[in-house]
Amino acid sequence: MTERRPGDYSIETLLASVAEGAGGAVVPPIVQTSLFAFDSYKAFEDRMAGRSDDPLYSRVQNPTVAAFEGMIAAAEEGEAAVGFASGMAAISSTVLALVRPGDRIACVEHVYPDAYRFFERLLRPFGVEITYHPVADFENDPDLLDGVRLAYLESPNTVVFEAMDLPRVAAHARRHGTLTVIDNSWATPVFQRPLTLGVDIVLHSASKYLSGHSDTVAGVVISSGELIGKIRDLSLSLLGGKLAPFEAFLLTRGLRTLGARMRQHQSAADRFVDNLSGHRLVKKVRSPGPNTVPGLTGRSGLLSVELDDSVSIPDFADALKLFRLGVSWGGFESLVLPTQIALNQSGEENSLQRFGVSGRIVRLSLGLEDPIDLWADFDAALSLSAKEK
Ligand SMILES: *Cc1c(COP(=O)(O)O)cnc(C)c1O
Repeated sequence: MTERRPGDYSIETLLASVAEGAGGAVVPPIVQTSLFAFDSYKAFEDRMAGRSDDPLYSRVQNPTVAAFEGMIAAAEEGEAAVGFASGMAAISSTVLALVRPGDRIACVEHVYPDAYRFFERLLRPFGVEITYHPVADFENDPDLLDGVRLAYLESPNTVVFEAMDLPRVAAHARRHGTLTVIDNSWATPVFQRPLTLGVDIVLHSASKYLSGHSDTVAGVVISSGELIGKIRDLSLSLLGGKLAPFEAFLLTRGLRTLGARMRQHQSAADRFVDNLSGHRLVKKVRSPGPNTVPGLTGRSGLLSVELDDSVSIPDFADALKLFRLGVSWGGFESLVLPTQIALNQSGEENSLQRFGVSGRIVRLSLGLEDPIDLWADFDAALSLSAKEK
């Protein structure tokens, strides 16, 4: 787990001890207000002139949102954080604050499908160039980032879960003056803290593990005070995709148990990886574990399994009793997402089609149920749906 450094606390201790309310309340309140009134002309004028940072208006500043931002900034070891209405708002607001027409973004292959759609459908028509590269090229080609404004990373990436050597890629980026952004939703700060590995900006879909209870859609970005200031100034206030106080409250609540939940997800994933490796009905398991790459210290509960051709995937999905069928992940409940369903999605080409993912892959989000019950359910459904060879 997270190591304790002298004079420092582990994430679990930090998340249990920060962000309190006033008057002895151990929980920060939900400050459900759009505006904050001032008690004098001078106080109002000082705020507008930038001489104070008292809360003004909840599009840009709210105490409940600030409580969440403080917790996640501490957990990621960043100077500052800014919350957003969704992971996609965090992604689009970050990228739009940092790139201009004529800039190039180098993006990792197998990126989250809606990040891909944002790049292709919204950003490219504005004159931003986007190129996609395999994980190994980011690591091994020291000049890949020559002339690149922003490297957009996910480690591990989506569905195929390839992990990236972040210290190495961050060092290449520094040499070329390229900013690095990583989506850390899979690992969470419990298992990977990219800012400590040299990455410039970390973002999350807080809808997943950070909230942990499948009751919130939210996003957050963590970085230096300077970069977060820029994102706040340009994107938070002008695009307006702010995090709501109630969602921020759910996130402060979710974060209290992040460490304990991630350990439980890991124990389920360890059991599945052990049982699936060498299983007669399984071709391949994709689930990076601790130390697959430098700085990755755990295995989360999101993994994928490529099933043998003798398994009917629709029959398998329908035979499951504990796993539910659906998108999203990172909650208390276990889910399966057959890749073939995503490949058959209507509309424009999606990133799964573009980067070529097998329709035999099933993505699993292992929840907080007993791992023994989960495995029994999974294994029974697999046997029931296999045609004997
Ligand atoms: C879900 C997800 C997102 C998008 O987050 P929303 O909160 O749904 O907008 C981004 N990245 C990854 C890896 C995700 O799984």
